[in-house]
Amino acid sequence: KWEEILQKMKTEYCTSNISYTTWIEPLTIYEVKDDTVFIFVSLKASIEHIHDKYLLPFRVCIAEVTGKEYQVEFVTEDNVQVQKEAVAVKKQNDAIFEQANLNPKYTFDTFVVGNNNTFAHAASLAVAESPGNRYNPLFIYGGVGLGKTHLMHAIAHFILENDPTKKVLYVTSETFTNELIDALKHGKINNENATTSFREKYRNNDVLLIDDIQFIIGKESTQEEFFHTFNHIHGAGGQIIISSDKPPKDIETLEARLRTRFEWGLIADISSPDYETRMAILRKKEELDGLDRYHIPDEVLQYIATNVKSNIRELEGSLNKLIALAVLENKPIDIALAAEALKDIISPDQNRVVTPGLIMNVVSEHFNVSIADLKGKKRNSEIVLPRQVFMYLCNELTDEPLKSIGIELGGKDHSTVSHGVQKIESLLQEDEALNNTVNIIKKKINPI
Ligand code: ADP
Ligand code: MG
Repeated sequence: KWEEILQKMKTEYCTSNISYTTWIEPLTIYEVKDDTVFIFVSLKASIEHIHDKYLLPFRVCIAEVTGKEYQVEFVTEDNVQVQKEAVAVKKQNDAIFEQANLNPKYTFDTFVVGNNNTFAHAASLAVAESPGNRYNPLFIYGGVGLGKTHLMHAIAHFILENDPTKKVLYVTSETFTNELIDALKHGKINNENATTSFREKYRNNDVLLIDDIQFIIGKESTQEEFFHTFNHIHGAGGQIIISSDKPPKDIETLEARLRTRFEWGLIADISSPDYETRMAILRKKEELDGLDRYHIPDEVLQYIATNVKSNIRELEGSLNKLIALAVLENKPIDIALAAEALKDIISPDQNRVVTPGLIMNVVSEHFNVSIADLKGKKRNSEIVLPRQVFMYLCNELTDEPLKSIGIELGGKDHSTVSHGVQKIESLLQEDEALNNTVNIIKKKINPI
């Protein structure tokens, strides 16, 4: 396959024959180990140039030819050993980050500091530099898609990079609640063991990050448990970081004693980004995702930044959609295409009607399952449950007949939808954690 990869490099990424024969042709595969391809550069002096210019193209070509994503490392005689050790260390770190539930993309390096988040960013960095010592808890609040989760992961990454022995755990308040519900249920059956291990998991941490605390609201037993978790960690000098859509004083169903504690530390808000920040974020994303090769004209980026104002996730979504349209339909990247890309992304926020499309977006995002999979035919449980939750919610929140819900789902028949709706209805009778999840999704669909 190496030959095939080289050919692809030649036709798609080399500007001239000379550049191909000079840089690419002499390269050989040194080793493929786990998910890393080590490419041997015989001429030591050229490694920097090759790395800068061809790293990304190689990753793309290798993925296209093999159908699998690989990391690419260039090695010379001298640094074969060093490189391999570095990769081993990186592997180990990846495992640590995974254990803490962290998304490798959400770091300080990939976070654009703009008018909307300067303070939250500075506070986050201060906490990351000396966890437990200042601003404890750190409470970050702001609207949907503005970077709260990204910042929290960035803090956790930073702390673990400085000290991989630190115990760091990131969870959403939904996970916290559902795991508590399950622990209590099992605790009744097998003598409290489950609650003990729940407590160990959450309390034995140097840093605990709880995302979207607004969804813990109105649940006495969960607030009670979280109160003790908080006291335990805080008392032991550990750092707590919380995010929410509102500041503590505005979360009505929050118990007073929790509210007081949330106000002990530092409260930082993130607001909507201004135009310059939106442009900076688009450019950063272009760079990080290697989209430079599509040569998106400035005016197209400006068009997107002008029209997508209040949600950074939508901003990124527009860019992804634009590229997808350009690649799949082979259309030129211009303003007309940008307009097409935007039309199913910007939702007019005022009087938002609950449509199957809206429910589909929220369900897809919440379960981290693609819309294509929801509409598709896959039958594994990671997809079937979200699909049935979608059927249930459409039936509950819209006037759509079962038949058209089936059509929304890429042509499922009436009886499949009816079965799905009933399935969720009966699960909801007994499964408290699913109840919690469905309620959270409903709040995401209709935040009032
Ligand atoms: P929230 O948790 O507030 O709903 P997220 O943290 O999930 O928002 O952010 C939504 C998306 O926008 C993520 O993909 C994130 O990486 C991106 N994003 C948000 N703020 C920034 C920023 N300042 N710089 C770069 N990317 C950002
Ligand atoms: Mg979030």
